[in-house]
Amino acid sequence: METIHITMPDGAIREVPLGTTAAEIAQQISPRLAKEALVARISPTAGPAVAPATASANASPDASPEARLDAAGNGEGFLVDLRAPIDHDARLWVLTPKDPDAIQVLRHSAAHLLAAAVLELFPNVKLGIGPPIDTGFFYDFVRDEPFTPEDLERIEKKMRELAAQDIPNERKMLPKPEAIELYRKWNQGFKCELVEEKAVESMVSFYTTGKFIDFCRGPHIPSTGRIRAFKLMSVAGAYWKGQEGNPQMQRIYGACFYTQQELDEYLHRLEEAKRRDHRRLGAELDLFSVQEEAGPGLIFWHPKGALIRKLMEDWLRDELLRRGYDLVVTPHIMRLDLWKTSGHTGFYRDNMFGPVEVEKADYQLKPMNCPGHILIYKSRLRSYRELPVRLAELGTVYRYERSGVLHGLLRVRGFTQDDAHIFCMPEQIEAEVEACIDFAFGVMKTFGFDKYLVELSDWDAAHPENYAGSAEDWGRSTAALQNTLNKLNVPFKRIEGEAAFYGPKIDVKLIDAIGRPWQLTTVQFDFNLPGRFGLEYVGEDGNRHQPLMVHRALWGSVERFFGILIEHYAGAFPVWLAPVQAEVLPLSEKFSVYANNVVAELRAAGFRAHLDDRNEKLQAKIRDAQLQKIPYMLIVGGKEAEAGTVSVRHQSKGDLGPRPLAEFLSDLRSQADSKVI
Ligand SMILES: [Zn+2]
Ligand SMILES: [Zn+2]
Repeated sequence: METIHITMPDGAIREVPLGTTAAEIAQQISPRLAKEALVARISPTAGPAVAPATASANASPDASPEARLDAAGNGEGFLVDLRAPIDHDARLWVLTPKDPDAIQVLRHSAAHLLAAAVLELFPNVKLGIGPPIDTGFFYDFVRDEPFTPEDLERIEKKMRELAAQDIPNERKMLPKPEAIELYRKWNQGFKCELVEEKAVESMVSFYTTGKFIDFCRGPHIPSTGRIRAFKLMSVAGAYWKGQEGNPQMQRIYGACFYTQQELDEYLHRLEEAKRRDHRRLGAELDLFSVQEEAGPGLIFWHPKGALIRKLMEDWLRDELLRRGYDLVVTPHIMRLDLWKTSGHTGFYRDNMFGPVEVEKADYQLKPMNCPGHILIYKSRLRSYRELPVRLAELGTVYRYERSGVLHGLLRVRGFTQDDAHIFCMPEQIEAEVEACIDFAFGVMKTFGFDKYLVELSDWDAAHPENYAGSAEDWGRSTAALQNTLNKLNVPFKRIEGEAAFYGPKIDVKLIDAIGRPWQLTTVQFDFNLPGRFGLEYVGEDGNRHQPLMVHRALWGSVERFFGILIEHYAGAFPVWLAPVQAEVLPLSEKFSVYANNVVAELRAAGFRAHLDDRNEKLQAKIRDAQLQKIPYMLIVGGKEAEAGTVSVRHQSKGDLGPRPLAEFLSDLRSQADSKVI
């Protein structure tokens, strides 16, 4: 009998008959592993790479999320069905729900389950594609009538029925012409098209779930019974192959996790995200607006929003000066030629507003601040003695974003970057990178974030021809980034081949109050612009040298960071940023003199206080102040007027009782000064 050698993750080697499956090996190891197993990963260890019953038979018909499963996990091997016979020496991993790759396979199988359920209820639908996505899956259908919420309920119920029947997901191979014929008879034109386009070999792989047959390279979990924690979420329009002008499809989205608890947590996070939506809170708290009359993606900062912005910017400018930056201001519109020199008219053209002609010369609304700062650097000869030069600007830029992707404050067409460019000598870069990271941590602490993710994007060293800068530049700069992170004990993920063509970078993502990551800080080297603009400094040796250039932004943009803060705080800004810090609520008109005195004292002490002198009941006033998320409400009546006190009510802590006004003032002072979150 012919045998093969299977190397397990612990290094143990098993000799098994040719054609043994991962399921059988799992069973030999332990019945529990066999029960928990969802899918397997194999990596051939010798001889030609034969991958039986796997992806290799045809390219992925589904969208990219599925394609990524190809080289899943630690980058080794590929995923296969547990029932796939192994006909080759290989390393083998049996994946259970603990493995992050397996969940995407489960979600892909859930997409098939959805299609199977839809076909049972609506046999005439035309099928599109159905890949897994980050939190679940979707499937695209064409149907004359729109799917209603009631339809979704019925479909979900049918999915549960089919899951309970524990129907096997079976893989079949068909010759390509037969496959096309099968779909033609079934009147599934989109699937015919996919097989014709995507099947590159003579045999085509299919998966069946009961009556549902999908052209799919898999892999899938063995049967539907394991799909338990899912929920259909919504229907959205989608174009066939994602291209405008192609037939319109209805995309049904579902959420899917291993356990009901994970699903419940996800649904709760969604609810929270809705409650914190900065667009809704922005209107309710009167912070900002987007005006159709003025154009999409352009932000109007209302008085309260503009006040918060001032406080944020004041903090930032003070920090910049304290940390040795110079503040500059550059024009919003500059000659198009400048953007030719910088190269932006080439690789960045699609993101720019069109040029404006003035006196027969073209001018460009700036999409970036870099060339402006470069011109200031170049305005005179620099000596090594003045390096590093750190030029910072709250620089407003304009970028063309398609109207479909605009989103509140997060994706806009005009925004102000907290931008800076550092020009330095090679021996200074480590200290500069460290200072940037330290500044980023300062931002996190000040604005109340304590979790983060860091990524280091490096070049693809195998293809230096795709990049600006020498191997020495890349090596030295990447080492500076890496050494700094190590020195500061910052865990990070290094991604090779992710860097822009002009240099390596560090990205810092902040995790907000409900666990969502937001890309914020970037520290980006540039080996391109110094050469294009002929930047120089006179070195200690009296010769001219080219400085290193670093772009860095901490917030990214003021608009986007403000949007993130609104959601992070759920609209309840901390005392130091709140547009109104204390709302004074007199019990009735009789106490308006004392109430006015309290407001005057607060203002004289430099606080933002407001008097609610409307002729409303106290409960109504409290409710409104609460809705406006004002940190403190100060209730004043006869007792308070007599004793010189205020009855303090806190936004989230509720009633704190009467306090002497002077004591409240000094407490507020210390909260504002120490920027308590
Ligand atoms: Zn599929
Ligand atoms: Zn820049």
